Amino acid sequence: MEITKDKVVQFHYSVRDTDGNEIENSRRGEPMAYLHGHQNMLSGLEKAMEGRVAGDIFSVTLAPEEAYGKRVENAEQRVPVKHLQGAKKWRPGMVAQVHTEQGVRQVQVVKVGKFMVTVDTNHPLAGKTVTFDVEVIDVRDATSEERDHGHAHGVGGHHH
Ligand code: ZN
Repeated sequence: MEITKDKVVQFHYSVRDTDGNEIENSRRGEPMAYLHGHQNMLSGLEKAMEGRVAGDIFSVTLAPEEAYGKRVENAEQRVPVKHLQGAKKWRPGMVAQVHTEQGVRQVQVVKVGKFMVTVDTNHPLAGKTVTFDVEVIDVRDATSEERDHGHAHGVGGHHH
């Protein structure tokens, strides 16, 4: 079964930067799952998935615009330390999650005060060219519920 719109795709991946440093690797856990054709995935990765089948292994290199976006200058903000999620103690350079009106965002901690933390709201990988090494694990038709919700359920997907 080929990957086309409204297919649920499970895949393992690792991401490396242009120096070859591994940034993320899904093999430490369950494969990632997403609903194809609904912009739930980095645009460049979704494009590269089109037409693949289970068992396919491929690599794709994405420019920042197709991956995590360009870096925005002056993207520093002060937020209450209690709004940061992901660790108990914060140090500069750590990546935190913050809930915003646009959903959960990853930010980088710049400066830590007693009550307020300065964060850089650029995604930690913003401005970077990254290479994904992908293995397609499974491709199946989405259920009508998944199509209605616009995302994948089950292993690697959304849990309600
Ligand atoms: Zn759902």
